[in-house]
Amino acid sequence: MEPTKGSPSPVDRSSAAAGGYTKRPAVAKPSQSDAAGIRLTETVPYHELYIGGVQVHFPFQPYPSQLGMMNHMIRALNRKQNVMIESPTGSGKSLALLCASLAWSRNFTSKQRQLRANMEAVIRKYCRHNQAAIARLHDASRLKDDRPASPNKDSDLEIVIDGLAASIELEEHVLSDDEDDADADPATPVAVPSGTPSSQPERTVASPTPSTPASYCTACTSPACGGTTATTSNVVQQKGAQPAAVSLESLVLMAVTIWKPTVDHILRAANAGVPAGLTSADIEVLKEARENLDVPKPRIYFGSRTHRQVAQLVDELRRKTPYRLRTAMLGSRSQTCLLNEASEVDAVDEMCRDLLDSSGCSFFSRTQKLAGSHHLQAGGELEIWDLEDIVELGRKVGGCPYYAARSLAESAELTFCPYNYIVDPSIRSAVGVNLHNSIVILDEAHNIEGVAREAGSLEITDLQLVRMAKECAKIIELMIMVRQHTLVMSVAQTLADWLRSSDMVYEFSDHEKQTAVWPNDGASLGELLDSLSLTPALIAALDRAYVEIDADIKSRRAEKNRTVLDLEPDVQLSLGAMRNVQRLLWVLKCAMPGSKYSGDYRAAASRAAVRALPDARPSGRRRRPSSRSSEQAMVVNTLALWSMNPGVVFSEIAEEARSVVLTSGTLSPVGSYASELQAEFASTLEANHVIDPQRFMAMVVECGPSGQPVVAKHSTVSLMSFQDDVGAAVVAIAAQSPDGMLVFAPSYALLSSLFARWETTGHMDALKQSKEVFLEPPGGSSDAFAKMMTRFQETLARKQGEQGPATRGAVLFAVYRGKVSEGIDFADQLCRTVVNIGIPYPAFKDVQVILKREYNDSRSRPAAADDGTGHAERLVSGGEWYETQAFRALNQALGRCLRHKDDWGAIVMLEARFAIPRNAARLSKWIRSYIREYDSFDDAMRNLRGFYATRIASDKAALASVKQVADPPADPPAEPPADPPTGPPAKRRTRQRVKPPAKPRTTTSIYISDDDDFV
Ligand code: SF4
Repeated sequence: MEPTKGSPSPVDRSSAAAGGYTKRPAVAKPSQSDAAGIRLTETVPYHELYIGGVQVHFPFQPYPSQLGMMNHMIRALNRKQNVMIESPTGSGKSLALLCASLAWSRNFTSKQRQLRANMEAVIRKYCRHNQAAIARLHDASRLKDDRPASPNKDSDLEIVIDGLAASIELEEHVLSDDEDDADADPATPVAVPSGTPSSQPERTVASPTPSTPASYCTACTSPACGGTTATTSNVVQQKGAQPAAVSLESLVLMAVTIWKPTVDHILRAANAGVPAGLTSADIEVLKEARENLDVPKPRIYFGSRTHRQVAQLVDELRRKTPYRLRTAMLGSRSQTCLLNEASEVDAVDEMCRDLLDSSGCSFFSRTQKLAGSHHLQAGGELEIWDLEDIVELGRKVGGCPYYAARSLAESAELTFCPYNYIVDPSIRSAVGVNLHNSIVILDEAHNIEGVAREAGSLEITDLQLVRMAKECAKIIELMIMVRQHTLVMSVAQTLADWLRSSDMVYEFSDHEKQTAVWPNDGASLGELLDSLSLTPALIAALDRAYVEIDADIKSRRAEKNRTVLDLEPDVQLSLGAMRNVQRLLWVLKCAMPGSKYSGDYRAAASRAAVRALPDARPSGRRRRPSSRSSEQAMVVNTLALWSMNPGVVFSEIAEEARSVVLTSGTLSPVGSYASELQAEFASTLEANHVIDPQRFMAMVVECGPSGQPVVAKHSTVSLMSFQDDVGAAVVAIAAQSPDGMLVFAPSYALLSSLFARWETTGHMDALKQSKEVFLEPPGGSSDAFAKMMTRFQETLARKQGEQGPATRGAVLFAVYRGKVSEGIDFADQLCRTVVNIGIPYPAFKDVQVILKREYNDSRSRPAAADDGTGHAERLVSGGEWYETQAFRALNQALGRCLRHKDDWGAIVMLEARFAIPRNAARLSKWIRSYIREYDSFDDAMRNLRGFYATRIASDKAALASVKQVADPPADPPAEPPADPPTGPPAKRRTRQRVKPPAKPRTTTSIYISDDDDFV
């Protein structure tokens, strides 16, 4: 299950040491420009703000909601806390998150530098005023090397420094080049001079501060210190050096660079009283330095739901913020492999491994060339890049974008990725994401709870198990790692046989699937594992076997690279099989009796008939896309170990990271979200929309045109009266709505039955009179969706009038939780109206939903808070969880039409149940404050018509005023010349283009203290 263990990383030193690929290109060492840290570009104007002591550069005067978000976030980062921020889509959330996190990171570096400078000043003062004590220390160490004492005062200082240097020399190994270099100013490197012992390579250390003078002791030149300085010409013999001539400046620099032993020495001396020349404030400085200076700068991981949303974040950073820094973006081979398209291979991971095991991939060997391209370096036009950029550059350079992206991510200060790269522990380990001390920002985080549960779960089919067993059998025939492969084979075969056994009793069944569950408690699951011989001892043995097989594969690759012989694919388990073993082990360890999380798992075995199985490759290797003719009906048996608790994987993220920031337009109720994730969120914020309330109308329409309440329940949606009323309502709304309109329904099944009915009643024809009709394609095909969206947008662009909105626009029918409802920007004329039918409750009879509700009920009881399972908090009840799932999906869809502050639109909730206060309270804060309820459809339509008319008139007035500014009145006609012109015709006078002045940088200082609560 762990791709990295089998995947060659060009930059993974540790795996190289362990016998991994030797063929990898050398690591692209950050250049000096790489070490430039977070900078500000002059090409983007910005405002300066001070929030919680942090200087933030924002592209414009932020809205109150953005100030609130930045304030909460910076406060949380300062205090190493987690924060949850709910802010409507289109409220500038991404920009606020990017600017706040980068400003904090920049401030972190400045604070570290200042702290270091303060510490150095104290060390120098100590040296100046405690020469005798240090001389004694030095003399003690000197007894061993017979060096003559220095006779003059400067030499006394030398002794002081030499003594300190000697005392710290023993602990030189504590110096971390990486840590020191990372925060150092690259502009002032200072080389350890030629006296450095020849056995050690000459090392370059960065000057601790840009202001470090040529003379070593600025503190001593101050009036308070008496004013003696030593010059760089002073040299002493360093203890043990052969030859032993090191400049005094270098020793001072070493003393402050290898600072920990020096500070410890002074703090020890301070135990007997504040040393001469120092104050108690100086001692506090040293204590603070000891505590904070070796804290590495936190990396930022910024995740969103999809790659497209991540690319939007990158675009925001590049275009709208003044911040420039080393960034990276993580993606899969299927998105970045340069051979993927050409060879039409969909199992790209497997193909890549096969290629690297055999003749190799020419792109791989030029990975370093791509990663080191000047376009991607600081100041390069692709310093902030996305996957499209690196793939395009990879084609030009001939280097592998996949491995280059991973290489660049190792030194990036900000890494973008889809959030399953962060949440799923197996993907995290595969792509080398280390969350320790990092800042994790997860945008569109309303789905994190489900994503985390899925990441902690396992589903494996009998076909995958049988394939794994067959692969093992082939390898055993070759007498390779026989004991280990036999164990894997036997576990896989046992599970497959059990899944296929005819005496399985299924408790749940629908027309597609039958499912047996072991839901009740940990004991029941334990009995099942026991009956399958999956005892703790066997799981431990399987774990050892997996580790040994993985090590064997790596050593074979290393050998192959040495001998330039191709590896036979059948002498090793496929990547898919290795990943399945790894995941099986991970989940079994969590689920087995005695584990902290054993009570959080439910086992299930299901049997389903399917037509095509994506994973049904006989060899597990390269597979051409299947054609319809090759599809055949087959029965698939699946073993599931479902995690009911998102905290199984999320709590680890919260523990590792310095701060976790969850944001979305729809996190409410935030309290229940925090308890589900089993993480403490010290701060939560529900921000308002940036849009003027006059620019949107949120209405609950309880009745349809027939006057009957509209209630889209399971029992009513198939009634003809319901379908006709909804049809008439949608036709009436569409006739008034300008431009684009979205209609959301809970399921494709409902949409399909509505369409069928409306075709016969004439509602569909009536609808087409005012709108071209589109349907979100079911099945999740990205291609089909992209084509539909293009046609929808083109239709609206074509119909958009010169002077105003299209009265005959387009309507798009979609489902909650689908692609349209999340992450797509329907700004301006793309959507002026959102119509909501029903409440999108999860499928009531879905086995996982049933189990999750039961689980939450069992954990919501008071006794559950202290049941010894490690759960500190009670969970919300199953019913509450169920309702919350529905309203999160609903709120997500509601926000589709308001994407920026100048946007406008109407939200029509065509459902009587929204008038119930309990339900209305679950709507997002920015909607529930302005909601209007109508029990008469005609009244609702009248007001809706008035709203559209007002907004359209306002848009026209704004357009006219803009045109007036753009087209000033024509100049009065020039006087005709007295005489007709003679000679050649005068050159046509052209208006000289005047370059507009660069936008000035505005410096607006707004001070918000750490405790101010904006919004
Ligand atoms: S180009 Fe494709 S096959 Fe080649 S190393 Fe990169 S990912 Fe692998």
